[in-house]
Amino acid sequence: MKDDCIFCKIIKKESPSNIVYEDSNVFAFRDIQPQAKHHILVIPKKHIPTITDIESNDVYGQIFSAIKKIAKQEGMEKGGYRVCINNGPDAGQTVFHVHFHVIGGEKISDKMA
Ligand code: 5GP
Ligand code: ZN
Repeated sequence: MKDDCIFCKIIKKESPSNIVYEDSNVFAFRDIQPQAKHHILVIPKKHIPTITDIESNDVYGQIFSAIKKIAKQEGMEKGGYRVCINNGPDAGQTVFHVHFHVIGGEKISDKMA
């Protein structure tokens, strides 16, 4: 938990969000500025600023197993969806708590996130 991190506050429910999924390691909620019908941010509960800072591959397993469940739950399993990470300033990362964008629910453009 980092006190000035908006995503940590969302995980702790100190800030509101539209929650999609939660387990002991992962939290997922709807992006405030959706790029498609479904735009979900999937994040580790542990505060990790960038993917470069991920020290255990367990995090990837936990995230992608949650993504699979979320895709099914949201009806994106058949049509497919995009998983995207903006890592670091040059890639346009604006919130420095690792997040995986999961975008779908309709035919989506070439824009990444
Ligand atoms: P990035 O640009 O870092 O890859 O993505 C950050 C994402 O977080 C953006 O798509 C932005 O709309 C979303 N976002 C930023 N602040 C909030 C917030 O307070 N609540 C929610 N639900 N999404 C947020
Ligand atoms: Zn955080």
